[in-house]
Amino acid sequence: MIEITLPDGAVKKVSKGTTPMEVAKSISEGLARNVISAKFNNTVVETVTPLTKDGTLTLYTWNDSEGKKAFWHSTSHVVAQALEELYPGIKLTIGPAIENGFYYDVDFGEHTVSEKDFPTIEKKALEIARGKHDYKMRSVSKADALQYYKDQDNEFKVELIENLEDGTITFCDHSTFTDLCRGGHIPNTGIIKAIKILSVAGAYWRGDENNPQLTRVYGISFPKQKELTEYLELLEGAKKRDHRKLGKELELFTFSKKVGQGLPLWLPKGAALRERLEQFLKKAQKKAGYEMVVTPHIGQKELYVTSGHYAKYGEDSFQPIHTPKEDEEFLLKPMNCPHHCEIYNSTPFSYKDLPKRYAEFGTVYRYEQSGELHGLTRVRGFTQDDAHIFCTTEQLNEEFKNVIDLSLYVLNSLGFDNFTAQVSVRDLDNPEKYIGDVSDWEKAEQAIIDAAEEKGLNYVIESGEAAFYGPKLDFMVKDALGRNWQLGTIQVDYNLPKRFDLTYKGSDNELHRPVMIHRAPFGSMERFVALLLEHTGGNFPLWLIPTQAIVLPVSEKHEKYAEKVLNSLENHEIRALIDKRNETVGKKIREAELQKIPFMLIVGEQEEASGTVSVRKHGGEDLGSLSTDAFSDLVSTEINSTLKSF
Ligand SMILES: [Zn+2]
Ligand SMILES: [Zn+2]
Repeated sequence: MIEITLPDGAVKKVSKGTTPMEVAKSISEGLARNVISAKFNNTVVETVTPLTKDGTLTLYTWNDSEGKKAFWHSTSHVVAQALEELYPGIKLTIGPAIENGFYYDVDFGEHTVSEKDFPTIEKKALEIARGKHDYKMRSVSKADALQYYKDQDNEFKVELIENLEDGTITFCDHSTFTDLCRGGHIPNTGIIKAIKILSVAGAYWRGDENNPQLTRVYGISFPKQKELTEYLELLEGAKKRDHRKLGKELELFTFSKKVGQGLPLWLPKGAALRERLEQFLKKAQKKAGYEMVVTPHIGQKELYVTSGHYAKYGEDSFQPIHTPKEDEEFLLKPMNCPHHCEIYNSTPFSYKDLPKRYAEFGTVYRYEQSGELHGLTRVRGFTQDDAHIFCTTEQLNEEFKNVIDLSLYVLNSLGFDNFTAQVSVRDLDNPEKYIGDVSDWEKAEQAIIDAAEEKGLNYVIESGEAAFYGPKLDFMVKDALGRNWQLGTIQVDYNLPKRFDLTYKGSDNELHRPVMIHRAPFGSMERFVALLLEHTGGNFPLWLIPTQAIVLPVSEKHEKYAEKVLNSLENHEIRALIDKRNETVGKKIREAELQKIPFMLIVGEQEEASGTVSVRKHGGEDLGSLSTDAFSDLVSTEINSTLKSF
C-alpha cells in the first residue's frame, strides 16, 4: 500500500500502482468524469500513470490552468497529426501549450499554409479527435528514438533527442500518430469538442534567426463548442477595443517612424487626458502626505552601477551617452529610484522625520526589441506615476495601508471594480535567494498581510514570488473583456537603502537603515491609458473624457445661440465643443457618437425661444429639454458619483 496526500490534507491509502484517475474515482464518479490531468509530487503525470510511492497528488479539471495546459498541449498532437495527413512530408518540431491555446512549429517544406486552409485543418483534426484515442506514453531508448526520426529525415527532432539523456526519453502515441513528448496529456482525444486554428506566423527554429525559418500554427480548443463561440466573440470584442485603433480614432496619441519606434507622441486631446489623470493623483497624493520632486532624464553611469540597474538594463538597453570629456558617461534613466535615494541622502533625517514620501511623474527609458513593441503597452519611453516611501520597519504596516487606500481610490474612480490582490512572499525552502535580515523579511511580510487583511482585500499569498530584495503586493485587475492586468505594485525594498547607504538617526541616537517602498498606482501613464481604453472602449468616465459635451446647432441661424450655450458651459467648467459645419444634425450626431462624446446638445428654433438645450446621451437616450444650468447640475452629479474626494 502507498499513502496519497490530497491538497486538502486528506490521506488515502491505496495499493501500489493505483492511477490518479482511480484515485479520482475513489473520491467521486463526478470528479473522475471531469479530471483531465494531474501532478504527483509537483511533477506532471498522466491520469493513467501508476503511482508507486507515497506522495502528494493534485487532480486538475478544465477549470484549472494546469488542466487547460494539458488540454491544449494534447490538442497540439491532434493538430500535428492532421497536418501530417494533409501535408505529407512535413517536419514537426515542438508543440507546447501557451496562455491561450497552443502552437506547433512546423517545417512545411514545399507546402504553404494560409488562412484559407484553416477550416480543412480544423475539420481533419476534429475528425481525429472524435476517434476517442487514448494518449499512451512509452519509454524509448535514445538509439531507437534517434533512429525513428532519422528515418523520417527530421533533423529537428534528432537535435532535440541528442540533447536528452538516455533513459529519460518518452514518446506519446495516439491513433496512428507518435510524437517525442515528456507528457502531460488528457485521457483521450474524445474530450476535445471544438478546435480553431487562429493564425500562422514565421518562427525561427529555437528562436534563433540564424536557424531555418519554420511556420508556427496557432490554435485553441475547448471541451464545448459553446466555449469556442464565446472565446471568438471575446476576440472580436478585443479587436474593436484595441487601444491602438481607439487611440487613433479618438486622436489621443500617435507614433512617428522619424521620431522612432516605441516612442509615443501624445496629441493635444491625449495630453489633456493624461494631465487630468496626473492632477487627479497629485491631489490625492498631497492629501496622503507625499511631496513632489523632479529629477533629470539622465544620470551618470556610476549612479546605476551603484543601484544595480546597470547590471539589469545596461548591456541590453540604451548604451551610455558620451560627452566631450573623456571617460564621462551618462545613461538614460531606466528607473527613478536611484535619483530619489540621492534626494533622501541630501538631508540627514531622524526617526521623527520619517516617513518621507517622494513622488514624481518620472519618464524612464528602456530598450525593447522592435518585435516586442506594442502600442502603448510596450514602449521604449514611458512615464511612471512613481513614488518612494522611506520609513522604519515599524511604519511599514501603516504605510502599506495608506498605499492600498490610494490604489483603491484610483481603481474605484476609474471604474475598475473587479480585482484581487496578490501578496508575493519568500520561498522558505530557498532562503539563500534573498538579501536582508530574516527578521526584517518576517516583519515586512506580516505587515503586508496584516495591511491586506485590515483593508478587507480579497487576496492570495504566493510563495516564492517575492523579488530577491523584498516582498510585494500587486492588484490583479480584470478588464471588461475578462482579461487580467497586473496593476499598482507596492514593493518593499531592503536592497537600495543598503546600496545607497541610506540612514536615519533613531531614538537611541544610533544610525539605522530605513526601508523603502516603491509604488505606482497607474504603473505607467502609457500602459494605464491603454488599459483604460480597452476596458471602457473609449467611453471614459465623465470626469476624464476629453470632450464632455458638443453643441449641435440645427442650422446657421442658431449659431449665435449655440455660442451662448457654449459660453455658459465653459463658465460651468464643462469641456465642450461646437459643431458649426454646414451638415445635417443627423450626420453631426453620428460623428459625435463615433467620437464617444457623452452629451449632445441640440439647439434649434424651440430651444432658442425657451433658452434651453435638447440633451441626447451617447448611445441614444433622450433627456429632453434642459436649461444650461440644469444640464450643468446633471454633469456635476454624475461626476461626483464616480469621483469622490480622497
Ligand atoms: Zn505531448
Ligand atoms: Zn522605484
